Amino acid sequence: MSRPQFPEAVYRLKSDEPFNFACHPGVPCFTDCCKMLELALTPYDVLRMRRGTGLTSQQLHDQYIIEERGEQDMFPKYYLTMIDDGQASCAFVDKEKGCAIYSHRPGACRAYPLGRAAVRTRSGELHQHFVLMKESHCKGFAESVEQTPEKYSQDQDLVSYNRFNDAIATLIQHDKIRQGLFMPNDEQLRFYTLALYNIDVFRAQVHAGTLNIGEVPSSVLDNDEELLLFAIDWLKDLYFQS
Ligand code: SF4
Ligand code: SF4
Repeated sequence: MSRPQFPEAVYRLKSDEPFNFACHPGVPCFTDCCKMLELALTPYDVLRMRRGTGLTSQQLHDQYIIEERGEQDMFPKYYLTMIDDGQASCAFVDKEKGCAIYSHRPGACRAYPLGRAAVRTRSGELHQHFVLMKESHCKGFAESVEQTPEKYSQDQDLVSYNRFNDAIATLIQHDKIRQGLFMPNDEQLRFYTLALYNIDVFRAQVHAGTLNIGEVPSSVLDNDEELLLFAIDWLKDLYFQS
């Protein structure tokens, strides 16, 4: 269900290369991997978790999200809080029922045991590379269900998550950042968190006209996914066009 912190073995896989894996309530290790995690959240994870919990993005931050920014980090990182139950379990896990926000669970929880790297060429073409992370405690590999990275990504609805992660990569891996030509100031950092990780407050501020963004069509403002894509483009303009 979720990703490991230290995989014991990692294998490269082609997108159509088969492997055996299935995770379901019948596996003996069911939910074992939903504890002791460092579960980094993407902006799209937060967007979807709002739907799964019925909470606003601000309420999610207040109750379930921790912010960290190390000395080497250009931007803050956001992690799902683990609860203090002696096992550092995810706040949404139930030993028998599984994940309480299953249909809106974070992308990392969907992807395990697959890892994906996306590389965009200079001509704009996107290449995907996959790895399989094998851990002995995960009994899902003993299930005789044949997968391929491509099939598994579709079954887990990773395609939607990857779409937004790839869009965000155009911001956080921008040439100006790679070349050391950009360092965000405090206001730019505040806008990063607001626009990408706190979509409800961002929307309210755009509505109220307090961000000096200009007119945003209601087809964008009223649609979470469109608003997130808009936010990414807005930040790129704000950071790199001046
Ligand atoms: S969000 Fe769901 S799948 Fe992910 S770690 Fe928590 S309980 Fe497990
Ligand atoms: S089969 Fe693997 S992914 Fe599924 S619950 Fe067990 S350890 Fe987690």
